Amino acid sequence: MKIAVLIKQTPDTAELPKISAAEAQSGDINVTMVINPWDEYAAEEAIDLADRFDADSVAISLGPDGEIDALKHALAMGVGEAVLVDESIVSSGDKWATDELATAEALAEAVKAQGDVELVLTGKMSVDGNSGVIYAGVACKLGWDLLVNVTKIVDIADGIITVEQAFEGGHESVAVPLPVVISVAKEINDPRFPSFMGIRKASRANIPTLGAGDLPVAASQTVTWSNLRKPEERKGSVQIFDGATVQEKAAKLVDALLEEKVI
Ligand SMILES: Cc1cc2nc3c(=O)[nH]c(=O)nc-3n(C[C@H](O)[C@H](O)[C@H](O)COP(=O)(O)OP(=O)(O)OC[C@H]3O[C@@H](n4cnc5c(N)ncnc54)[C@H](O)[C@@H]3O)c2cc1C
Repeated sequence: MKIAVLIKQTPDTAELPKISAAEAQSGDINVTMVINPWDEYAAEEAIDLADRFDADSVAISLGPDGEIDALKHALAMGVGEAVLVDESIVSSGDKWATDELATAEALAEAVKAQGDVELVLTGKMSVDGNSGVIYAGVACKLGWDLLVNVTKIVDIADGIITVEQAFEGGHESVAVPLPVVISVAKEINDPRFPSFMGIRKASRANIPTLGAGDLPVAASQTVTWSNLRKPEERKGSVQIFDGATVQEKAAKLVDALLEEKVI
């Protein structure tokens, strides 16, 4: 069995970046990029499950060509392999065109390209995009079940994975057949710090990049910044009902609502 863990590289929230007016204008902002903090929990779980169930693990990230620091962090923690998906394969030359649907589709294809993956682990959300939809999109594109807010992976046996999920007011135990996409909650584990040996090993690791032609992904056909549509302007008016008494005002209001077929 192979476990894929989805890792996003995001700005370091521990630093307060200084952004110049020119950077803000162009969008080319120079900040320190690190592994998305929520994805450290997913990476830790992948490493732990690989040990418990004698599985292989692979970290997959979609991002700009050469941005592999987050993947190196995952490798240094102990994830087995790493693959970068060059985001330009879905951006069709438009710099701001890698929307969530295109990202999910490319990640799902990258998962398929890894062979016998039966479990995809993701973080709860990214600290920059913050949409919390990528795992749903990946599960949808793969046609697999999705479990969110998972606080414990209890067992994997006979093709069935048993987990605990948190929901408002408690926890529930769920068993579903593999393959499955799981988004983990932070209660699931305490991510380890990469060891010195791990960092040295990761620094020498070969991280392949999947680019145009490697995955059957079409350039984003969905919304882009350049074709964003504004919702139609709403037209409305205000009518004040006057009267000598509250009863009279209320009666006029009811008549008007009946006439407009609101009630
Ligand atoms: C119209 C539009 C255009 C955009 N254009 C661009 C663009 O050109 N370039 C750009 O960088 N962003 C762009 N974005 C933002 C980009 O779509 C999102 O950042 C990205 O799709 C991930 O969504 P999220 O950050 O909300 O992830 P969430 O759904 O909050 O992340 C949940 C989990 O999914 C996994 N995950 C999320 N993203 C990745 C990833 N990239 N690789 C691996 N795992 C991941 C992680 O495990 C993460 O914890 C655009 C957004 C829109 C709406």
